[in-house]
Amino acid sequence: MKKQLNPSEAARETLIVLASRKLAPTPENYTQVFQEISGKPPTGSTEPTSTSAPPKLNVSWSALIQDLLRQLETPHKGITITRKKDGLETVLNRFGSKPDELFEKIQGLLRSWSSAPTANLDAPPPPPANNDALTAGATKSVSTPTQVQKVLPQANSGEGAQAHQELISQLRELLAQTLENSLISQPELSSEIKELARLVRATDNSQIYELASKLRHFWLKLELRGGDKSKIQEGLVRLLRLLVENVGELVADDQWLHGQIVTLQEIIANPIDKRVIADAERNLRDAIIKQGLLQKSLSDAKSTLKGLMTTFIDRLGEFSESTGQYHTKIEGYGLKIGGASNLADLGHILEDIMHDTRIIQDSALRSHLELVTARKQADEAEARIKQLEAELAEVSEQVHTDQLTGVLNRRGMDETFERELNRADRGQTPICVALLDIDNFKKLNDKLGHQAGDHALIHLARVIKECLRPADNVARYGGEEFVIILPDTPLKEGVEAIERLQREMTKKFFLNNNERVLVTFSAGVALRNADEDQENLIGRADKAMYIAKTTGKNRVVAAD
Ligand code: GH3
Ligand code: MG
Ligand code: MG
Repeated sequence: MKKQLNPSEAARETLIVLASRKLAPTPENYTQVFQEISGKPPTGSTEPTSTSAPPKLNVSWSALIQDLLRQLETPHKGITITRKKDGLETVLNRFGSKPDELFEKIQGLLRSWSSAPTANLDAPPPPPANNDALTAGATKSVSTPTQVQKVLPQANSGEGAQAHQELISQLRELLAQTLENSLISQPELSSEIKELARLVRATDNSQIYELASKLRHFWLKLELRGGDKSKIQEGLVRLLRLLVENVGELVADDQWLHGQIVTLQEIIANPIDKRVIADAERNLRDAIIKQGLLQKSLSDAKSTLKGLMTTFIDRLGEFSESTGQYHTKIEGYGLKIGGASNLADLGHILEDIMHDTRIIQDSALRSHLELVTARKQADEAEARIKQLEAELAEVSEQVHTDQLTGVLNRRGMDETFERELNRADRGQTPICVALLDIDNFKKLNDKLGHQAGDHALIHLARVIKECLRPADNVARYGGEEFVIILPDTPLKEGVEAIERLQREMTKKFFLNNNERVLVTFSAGVALRNADEDQENLIGRADKAMYIAKTTGKNRVVAAD
């Protein structure tokens, strides 16, 4: 009060005075008493600010920062350094412009850290910050003997054990009174506070750790109560964030979103309480985790279902390929399934598919019967076609053949000419054409009858075939005129071949009623000129034949 006291001595004295006056160690009371003791004139203000209380600032802030550094470095179970820094940042942001509040909030932060067990559980908790013993952190001032020594460094060293003991008991009384003062603001905790105050007064030094622990828990409880409002806000923000973060997951299932909204509405409708928020948050988290799992299962199920349906559709597509009208539909379903985002859509698509499938199945059954019938008809048709083809081939053969003699007719001759002329061109080989005309045939007919004349024609055709090479072709060109095509034959050989035929005809008599009938012919033989066409070639042969007629008949004349 009067003498020159250093800050520590002044602090000790201040506490003793506060205890003796039964005053709570609030910053205001402390400042006032401290100023009385240290001899400094009162500031004149009953509510000293941080700037009007230099001891508090000088002593407490430096200690607080030291403690802050220490607590940051101390590993606390369940509180990472990042979380510590985040907490500190939040406090600095919110209370940076209000030093008094900032001081208290940082203290609160440090208390919450130090309440967690340290990494080494056997070691005692690190010493707390408030060695100035100014604020409501009175519980801390008695947390360990070390702390007491720190608060009052001269208790052991300077004034002896008795003074020390006296101070301890006075501090204990001060603490008990502080606790009882808090009854006003915390009526719900009255029994607990009264019990703690009783323990503080009754506990001896040997039980001081146990008491410190109880006080620390009590203080945390108080702070939690005090911090409810901001914690509720934080909780709500967290809830909101949870919902926002999961909005993406909600799209697929609106029902879940509805459930979340109902939960939020219930929270808002009831008096907002920290515990309700925490419960809601936990439930939401659980729900989101479950939702995530469900979404995954649902997504897997959908994929499986999609896969099954796609396979089904593919098979159906193959099955109904013959019924083209379904094929388009099935492709459409495939696209729809690909775009479906929920089970309801898939369900509708499935119903449509099943509907169409039934139609297809009915149709397929009908188609099957129709197919069996059609197959039978097709087999019959195939057999009929084969028969017709054979008949057609026969007819076709006939149209190329002269009905009477069996040699080529004019059509057959034309086709043969085309083929043989091309071949001669390709092979650059000579080709001859002979035109034969029976001599005096009219007379034969007249003498022996038309039928004998027919037989004479048949006889000549047969002799020609027998006499000539297989590669040679014979055609009936007109009534009693024949054309012989001689491939790969020079003119001389052609003439010789026809002359040989002539001789054969004198040997092989035409027998009519066992009567030998001599049938002769006149012939002209023409060698095809380069690129000469059928008509011109036959024309030259005809001229040569005419010469043979006019020069005595039964002759072979080579064309020019
Ligand atoms: P030439 O020696 O000058 O050729 O006298 P030709 O009598 O043979 O000639 P012509 O052209 O005057 O008479 C041809 C006769 O051949 C007339 C016709 O009645 C007869 N003839 C034509 N085609 C047939 C046939 O298919 N069968 C029978 N039996 N006679 C036919
Ligand atoms: Mg004739
Ligand atoms: Mg004739």
